[in-house]
Amino acid sequence: MQLPVLDRLILSAQRPSRYAGGELNAVRKDLTAARVKWALAFPDTYEVGMSNVGFRLLYHALNERPDVACERVFMPWPDMERALKAERQPLFSIESRAPLGAFDVVGFTLQFELCYTTVLAMLELGGIALHARDREREDPLILGGGPCTYNPEPVADFFDAFVIGEGEEVVHEISDAMADWKRGRGSREDLLWLLAEISGVYVPSLFRPHYNGDGTLRAYEPLKPGYDNVVRRVIPDLNLVPQAEKPIVPFMQTVHDRLPLEIQRGCTRGCRFCQVGMITRPTRQRDPNDVRRIAEQGLEATGYEEVGFLSLSAGDYSCIDGVLEDFFDELGPENIGISLPSLRTETMSEKLASQIKRVRKSGFTVAPEAATERMRRVINKGNAEKDLLHAVDTVFRAGWDLVKFYFMIGLPAERDEDVRAIVKLSADALRRGKKLNPRAEINVGVSTFCPKPFTPFQWDPMIPLEETQRKHALLREELRRLGRGYRDLHVKPHDARQSALEGALALGDRRLATAVLHAYRRGQRLDGWTEHFNLDVWQEAFAETERRHGVGLRFFAHREKGERETLPFDHIDCEVTKPYLWKARMGALREAQVPDCAYGEEICTACGACDYEVVDTIVYHPSDYRRQSASAPEALPAERTFLRLRYGKEGVAVALSH
Ligand code: SF4
Repeated sequence: MQLPVLDRLILSAQRPSRYAGGELNAVRKDLTAARVKWALAFPDTYEVGMSNVGFRLLYHALNERPDVACERVFMPWPDMERALKAERQPLFSIESRAPLGAFDVVGFTLQFELCYTTVLAMLELGGIALHARDREREDPLILGGGPCTYNPEPVADFFDAFVIGEGEEVVHEISDAMADWKRGRGSREDLLWLLAEISGVYVPSLFRPHYNGDGTLRAYEPLKPGYDNVVRRVIPDLNLVPQAEKPIVPFMQTVHDRLPLEIQRGCTRGCRFCQVGMITRPTRQRDPNDVRRIAEQGLEATGYEEVGFLSLSAGDYSCIDGVLEDFFDELGPENIGISLPSLRTETMSEKLASQIKRVRKSGFTVAPEAATERMRRVINKGNAEKDLLHAVDTVFRAGWDLVKFYFMIGLPAERDEDVRAIVKLSADALRRGKKLNPRAEINVGVSTFCPKPFTPFQWDPMIPLEETQRKHALLREELRRLGRGYRDLHVKPHDARQSALEGALALGDRRLATAVLHAYRRGQRLDGWTEHFNLDVWQEAFAETERRHGVGLRFFAHREKGERETLPFDHIDCEVTKPYLWKARMGALREAQVPDCAYGEEICTACGACDYEVVDTIVYHPSDYRRQSASAPEALPAERTFLRLRYGKEGVAVALSH
């Protein structure tokens, strides 16, 4: 029997479960009956995309609507990409195996800048024109969402529209607009004008950039009257964000293989390098009294054995101690674990450590970011060295063997002694740790700082590659100085070559479409994977941009910008104001500390994120949490029952490994 082409390709792919679909709780609707058909596209592999909580939330939120069908599309691994091309098959959705071009909306999640070439690869594999201007009425609307849309200019030519900010509400408004437009006989341009009416939707073709003689931006000219800037969308209350009742369960191991549960959105600690902290303001916590119920529901519907309590810093969730204690009392005996992806050192208490240790076995990650008190004041990461060392002591004392540190180099106002201090501080922590746990080991990751839009450091230059290499040499020298006895201290500087490109793409403007397209045409895609990243090709791509437009990598990534310079994302309004960010930048030079506004109105520094009526900080007090007692264990029946099970693999399951 001859198998249909796609079945054959899937079965012969390196990892068929990336493409097979049919997972538990996946939603498959009749596409022909849907008023609006969405493809949520993730420009990376299945296992990366299925670990993205926003992607998963939107999938279920859209499928809740009876008139909408939403399916998933991922970038195939190169073996599958080659096979699709050889067989002249278009990129297809996981659920119905429908070609990408058959959807009304293709919504890409833009999680980080190095995914841009992959977006182009997916469009071309789907048979969709790369440039928005070349698409016709029947082509899908190409939409972008996610953190990169706060400066989408480098890929503005390839997208019809972007969603700025949180997507849970706006996707429904886009669905309604699309359904209305489909009913009529309007042109593609009519659709774009309709979308531009929706708050938080940015249509780049309705803005024309103008440049100065020195290559800097002069202004954006709005082409639709009254459409001068685009204000981000924000969900005022996290309790209004429905968690999927039946979350999807991948058949293969994904990067984060657990039930995701968002307990807090936003972080107002005010770290000056942190984009996600600035763009997700204010802090909004989920009602702690709902957390266990949602977790139990999700566990029951999925069979997961671990819940990820998601937050930018889980230790900042004010009711974490009570919630964890009850959670473990109830679910610990069933071997259900939790993971807290990130913790700030000053939030690490003995109690929290002992709670986490009830299940967590792997290494413990701490992100001091900078190694001297002075540098931590510059970046407003107000943790003192004693807190850091105390946290590490606590972790080693609680029985962990491995602690992972994350530091950055190349931060504004950094001196050589700050770089050297990374090794000294880590060595100090290890020395103390060894006294508490002889197996103590510390891995130190060191990355080069990359300035991001909507942060106080958005005007600062990124250090050039040679400077990164010089700082790496300082680290090596300092390590040598330590001498023997520090075999368990592993300092691993990250490859800075990718960071420079990330910096340029994060801060650049529309002229960078030339670089993205050039790199793609030279074979780049999946650039976030070291084995696929090719620096030479990207350097060539930036050289081409410089030839065409007179500005290149140095201009975008390594140049200091002036206070009055028009930035490529000035027409995007993240509500945290530009004057506030500039003031914070000046504050960095004075090493001024800004407190966390989550704990009292009087601490508000008027960043602009809250309107105090609809959008405001939502933080619970530990006393708001009502302790939830553990249910009595179910009594086992006295008689024994023998069950004999036989299983086989049918349908899509034949594509899965044992
Ligand atoms: S407006 Fe005030 S309370 Fe709201 S996030 Fe900004 S600093 Fe915090």
